[in-house]
Amino acid sequence: MADNSSALPKRIAVIGAGTMGNGIAQVFAAHGVATVLCDVSDEAVQRGVAAIGKSLDRFVKKETITAAQKDAILGRIAPVTDVADAVGGVDLVVEAVFENLDVKTKLFRTADAAAPAAAILASNTSSISITALAAATKRPAQVIGMHFMNPVPIMKLVEVIRGQDTSDATCATVMAASQALGKVPVEAQDYPGFISNRVLMPMINEAAFCLMEGVSTREGIDEIMKLGMSHPMGPLTLADFIGLDVCVNILDVLKDGLGDDKYRACPLLRRMVAAGHLGRKTGRGFYEYT
Ligand code: NAD
Repeated sequence: MADNSSALPKRIAVIGAGTMGNGIAQVFAAHGVATVLCDVSDEAVQRGVAAIGKSLDRFVKKETITAAQKDAILGRIAPVTDVADAVGGVDLVVEAVFENLDVKTKLFRTADAAAPAAAILASNTSSISITALAAATKRPAQVIGMHFMNPVPIMKLVEVIRGQDTSDATCATVMAASQALGKVPVEAQDYPGFISNRVLMPMINEAAFCLMEGVSTREGIDEIMKLGMSHPMGPLTLADFIGLDVCVNILDVLKDGLGDDKYRACPLLRRMVAAGHLGRKTGRGFYEYT
């Protein structure tokens, strides 16, 4: 295999040590990149580091890496709680905080003020406009979407999203870095939901409509899509994984951003969210989890 490690940044900061942030930090650190992992509190950032340790343990158990390699990867991750400190001296910032425009905008402003002039600022957002985040900075040509999939260490895709003013050079750097991580980057333009969620969410929504209308059972709907379309899991199972609240939020972004009622969230989805049945994370969604 060609050695394309020179395409990797030397030092990066990942802001947000939750599900996605800790996965992203793990993948960069596993490829030898000095990685700063930042969250709002020591507790939050340590939770992220612990999750990385647990994930690496699985690779050790499978003998994909050795225990010494695990320690070396963890040794490359520096936990911090201050964003301005985190981004000092880095080539790339990957933001993976809550999916909230105000939180992300504020963060991009802070990162822009503190990061080196040449650094690229990337967001892992699922649905927020990259162009809007870029507009909060003085370097819109160096702002881009780097949409990793969950779980990050396993999933191959990085959806690379070009904002209105993202430069060709920024895009080329991020595409090459993603490849050097062993991922497959695919470019998309900055329209609501990009490609992944614009295509996925209407399918999940339609599955919820089918359930609501009694077209089939939850198992029937999932089985048909699994066996008939070779999907690894059915849409209702997948919705439970993603979180039904997240699905409704993204559908709202699609409906508002594209101005088309065809993206309206199924009333059953909204009712389940109102009841707090959000999927795996609450122990109950379309299915029950113990
Ligand atoms: P999460 O809730 O697991 O983690 C978010 C983390 O960000 C939390 O630890 C929180 O404390 C931290 N945070 C919030 N504000 C912060 C700030 N100002 N500074 C530093 N840290 C801050 O969320 P997640 O599921 O990891 O999602 C993160 C992003 O990734 C979102 O934009 C989401 O849309 C996107 N995304 C999620 C998935 C998924 O399957 N979970 C997949 C693709 C993309």
